[in-house]
Amino acid sequence: MSPDAPDGLVQTLPETLANQIAAGEVVQRPASVLKELLENSLDAGAREIAVVLRKAGSELVQVVDDGCGMGPRDAEACFGRHATSKLRAVEDLERLRTLGFRGEALASIAAVAQVELRTRRQGDAAGTLLRVEGGHVVERAPCAAPPGTSLAVRNVFFNVPARRNFLKSPATEYRHLLETFQCIALSHPDVAFTLVHDDHEVYRLPSSPAPFLEALAARVAALLGSRCEGALVPVQETTSYLSVRGVVGRPELARRARGEQFLFVNRRYVRHRGLEHAVTSAFEGLLAPEARPLFALFLELDPRHVDVNVHPTKTEVKFDDERGIYAVLRAVVKKALSDADLVPSLGDGHGEAAPVRTASFGARVAVPEPRVQATSSVRWATRSTEEGVPVAPGAGAVPAPRLGPIPSKAQPGPERAPTDDELDLAARPPVWQLHGRYLVSPIRSGMLVVDQRAAHERILYEHALTALEGGLAASQQLVFPVVTELSPADAVLLEELLPDLRSLGFAIEPFGRRTVKVHGVPADVRPGREQTILEEVLEQYRQYRDGLQLAGREGLARAFARRRAVRPGQALSEAEARALIDQLFACRNPHACPHGRPTMVRVSLEELERRFGRG
Ligand code: ADP
Ligand code: MG
Repeated sequence: MSPDAPDGLVQTLPETLANQIAAGEVVQRPASVLKELLENSLDAGAREIAVVLRKAGSELVQVVDDGCGMGPRDAEACFGRHATSKLRAVEDLERLRTLGFRGEALASIAAVAQVELRTRRQGDAAGTLLRVEGGHVVERAPCAAPPGTSLAVRNVFFNVPARRNFLKSPATEYRHLLETFQCIALSHPDVAFTLVHDDHEVYRLPSSPAPFLEALAARVAALLGSRCEGALVPVQETTSYLSVRGVVGRPELARRARGEQFLFVNRRYVRHRGLEHAVTSAFEGLLAPEARPLFALFLELDPRHVDVNVHPTKTEVKFDDERGIYAVLRAVVKKALSDADLVPSLGDGHGEAAPVRTASFGARVAVPEPRVQATSSVRWATRSTEEGVPVAPGAGAVPAPRLGPIPSKAQPGPERAPTDDELDLAARPPVWQLHGRYLVSPIRSGMLVVDQRAAHERILYEHALTALEGGLAASQQLVFPVVTELSPADAVLLEELLPDLRSLGFAIEPFGRRTVKVHGVPADVRPGREQTILEEVLEQYRQYRDGLQLAGREGLARAFARRRAVRPGQALSEAEARALIDQLFACRNPHACPHGRPTMVRVSLEELERRFGRG
């Protein structure tokens, strides 16, 4: 470095700027504000918590609690950086039982929003009002207030336009808020919660005097839908090192997306792939391969054995004996499931529900009443086997599914010259089905092997894209419209996707806040699936959006294709097999499924000859 380089460049950041930078870590979106405020209320010992939101949180996130409140000095101090009443020394980190401890949430939030605090301790004559904007106190005054604390956070990121513009659509932000609320309300079934959004009461969750597991079961049903009632299995086990308690859903509640898995460590919601896997693997043999069971499980262990200080949002944790915890968790859930054959499930009314095994598979053998007035030229010959076991609730039987006719209008014509394969196939050589998975046909150069599922997905995908781009997909009217209760998150998603779902052939009518009436489904949905296809598509969409970052029409078209494509193991008649191949070659890109895997493989005569040692 040159000797006359300027000195004095390294300076401590002004506090407000430092807080704004730190805010980026803690406050990503309105939902992160909600999480921090709710955690503070729980740490303050609240028994009743009210959440008020406006405009998906971008205008207002307010949390009102009846917790311990703060005196005037603390009311001001709590906005300081690293201001916390919960941690005094390094050793405390090892004993930590509170949700907060970094003392940076309020400072970070106040740096990027307009915050109004009203708080009073039980014994104080007056409360304190404090207004902070962009990190500066703009008003302080005594005020009348009930015991407890109200924190109103307005216009988050008002002074950081770049971040404000970065917020997603109101529907998306609202979904995050709901998910946050859900996790926290589940973590404390003994505390009462309400949630009001734009003057609309979304949740009123009473506190329950019932024992923990019963209160939890009631809360799970209140949050995730009445389908959970009577379908939850209690789990409870304590060792000297670890206690596990909570509920797991019977296999019929399982879904294909990870959406409904809640793990709490010392009452803190955490994500932990390994432990999620432990629970899923305890369901071995009870679920279809991709299905993920529903659960809300609470692990309690000495805080010394967990590190929650991995990330500012504290949803990641590290255990010092992860393998041990994995094994215990898996064993405990396994035992609960086997006990469930005998033990009646939680909740009333359905106590005599069938044992796990029967409920998951036995009930699905019956063929349901026909619900559809649909005509279809082509029918699948036999019903599916292993892979076809539905996992969505009420999925009913696995009837003979159809490969629907693809309306010629929506069919994207090939924009390419016919390939040799197509010319060969046009001569109608035989088509054989192999192991319920592949279609084999001779062509001049050797043989063509088509993966029937990949091919069907490609066909449905292009079909869906055409429909979404303005074509019209055929819809079949349901004789008996299906009324479905959606989870709050799905309800939001549905609203977002409604126009596109209609283009795809769904006739949907919102029917109450979280209930929809499905009058019609796309013309080629397999019988028996009309009930669940909407939920399945939403779920798959969500999985793609979160996992592959595939949103919008591309994500929807893929989700739609995936959920409707034939499963391996489905027998096809020769006519069906031929129709599938014809439709495949009518695609714009017949060679790969939407995920990029090949739909067909050509095995040349030369290769065969070589294999037989003649090459
Ligand atoms: P942390 O929760 O990590 O301590 P925060 O910035 O979230 O840090 O809060 C700072 C402090 O403000 C807390 O330690 C607590 O003393 C006080 N506080 C915040 N919210 C509340 C509340 N709802 N009721 C009582 N005290 C609160
Ligand atoms: Mg906190």
